[in-house]
Amino acid sequence: MGRTALVEGVEVSTEHWIGGERVGSADAFTDVSPIDETTIAEVARGGPEEADRAVRAAREAFPAWAETPPEERARILHRIGELVEERVPELAAVETRDNGSLLRSMRDSVMPRVARNLHFFAEQLLELRHDELETGPYRTRVEWDPAGVAVVITPWNAPLMLATWRFAPALAAGNTVVLKPPEWAPLTASLFADLAREAGLPDGVFNVVQGIGEEAGSALVGHPGVDRISFTGSVETGRLVAAAAGRNLTPVSLELGGKSPFLVFADADLDAAVAQAVNQYDNAGQVCLAGTRLLVERGVYDVFLDRFLERAGTLRQGDPRRDDVDLGPLISREHFERVDGFVRRAKEAGAKAVLGGGPNEELGGLYYRPTLFVDVPPGAEVLRKEVFGPVLTLQPFDDEDEAVAMGNDTDYGLAAIVYTGDRARAERVARRLVAGTVWVNCFYVRDLRAPFGGARDSGIGREGGRWSFDFHADVKAVCMGPFEDR
Ligand code: NAD
Repeated sequence: MGRTALVEGVEVSTEHWIGGERVGSADAFTDVSPIDETTIAEVARGGPEEADRAVRAAREAFPAWAETPPEERARILHRIGELVEERVPELAAVETRDNGSLLRSMRDSVMPRVARNLHFFAEQLLELRHDELETGPYRTRVEWDPAGVAVVITPWNAPLMLATWRFAPALAAGNTVVLKPPEWAPLTASLFADLAREAGLPDGVFNVVQGIGEEAGSALVGHPGVDRISFTGSVETGRLVAAAAGRNLTPVSLELGGKSPFLVFADADLDAAVAQAVNQYDNAGQVCLAGTRLLVERGVYDVFLDRFLERAGTLRQGDPRRDDVDLGPLISREHFERVDGFVRRAKEAGAKAVLGGGPNEELGGLYYRPTLFVDVPPGAEVLRKEVFGPVLTLQPFDDEDEAVAMGNDTDYGLAAIVYTGDRARAERVARRLVAGTVWVNCFYVRDLRAPFGGARDSGIGREGGRWSFDFHADVKAVCMGPFEDR
């Protein structure tokens, strides 16, 4: 198996996975667990050479995989999904150690969703119906041809779930894949490669290049042999990826950051709204979709704030492997400093922290207290920029127009959350908000058939259901003229 690390009792390869083989690199990068800032692995540090080797392996494997009948591709994806289900405890333990997410979330929802991503796109593949259009004597048929080699690049906050969300449809559609996992949480990608092999996925169809974004990631997105780039990460990196893709005219799908509004009207079920608002600290706020800007109708502002503080006060912070803990650490020292910088500047700008407002001194390490700011000056950085930590702001609004205007006052457009007891208002507000997803009286509910993505700076393109197949295929129209059979 080449070089490995033992993480939570699980042996994990720390090498690349290219063309069905473990491949090392001369250099390594250090993988640190955010739980206690200890080194858990030295991981192969790929660059242009490994990227090229992986793209060539994927290209070589492409024709046979593209020709593999959809039923067989679906069968293998289902088999991988079953293996993920069997290995949830190991996958969850390794990912929690690697990125500090709550073990109970990993075990009960995130890893099951990894399996669901695989099963879902396998099912979708077999359900795809090709349109047939008639124009007089001509018949036009719409087909999805596999596109080629898909590069998938993902962030650390839910690395395996986000990766499978992007590459399961690529594989289902008949493409081959090169995955570049995040350097801050690279390990579950390696475990996944083992499962894919065990399920019978042919060599070269799925490859993993480990490494740093600016090295391995950049080499992959600039590679001329790549046919699709599916990127999930920050807006800043998304711009670089889009520019590199542009040079080769490689189609790119970008799922980027967010600064989602969370609107609460006076007619809402306040307890439900408060509970969901406090949930925005999930994963220590390291969630792209999080409704970090709480906007509450003035008439219920005070009572909302009281109940929010009461409920948030019961959150327990600590080792994310414990089942009674609600909030773990931030991912890395660098990210911790970044989050702390936002908090310090918000205070300097005049915002008032009524909850938290700094590191958790008792726990030390990378644990940052859940923080709520009120009285934030209009236009302040903390209202505009994605913090990606446990930091929320609370602002009052006077009426529906103001709520919508404040909600839309952002460069992002990933999601919006609305709590109201008035159905007509819910419809009006959902229509007027600029967002890839609007949740009314709920949050995070995902029907994988629905489109997912971001408006404005939150992304380009949509994936989910048949949108994923549209992206991962060369959509073709075949127009047949009249035939005289000879
Ligand atoms: P990031 O942009 O720093 O890194 C994401 C990935 O890109 C990593 O694998 C990294 O190695 C790679 N990368 C970095 N530089 C690169 C380059 N020049 N070329 C190619 N690849 C490069 O983001 P992050 O800090 O890992 O993740 C947090 C961000 O991801 C937040 O902005 C969050 O909102 C966003 N996110 C979005 C979604 C979504 O679905 N919209 C989901 C999760 C996270």
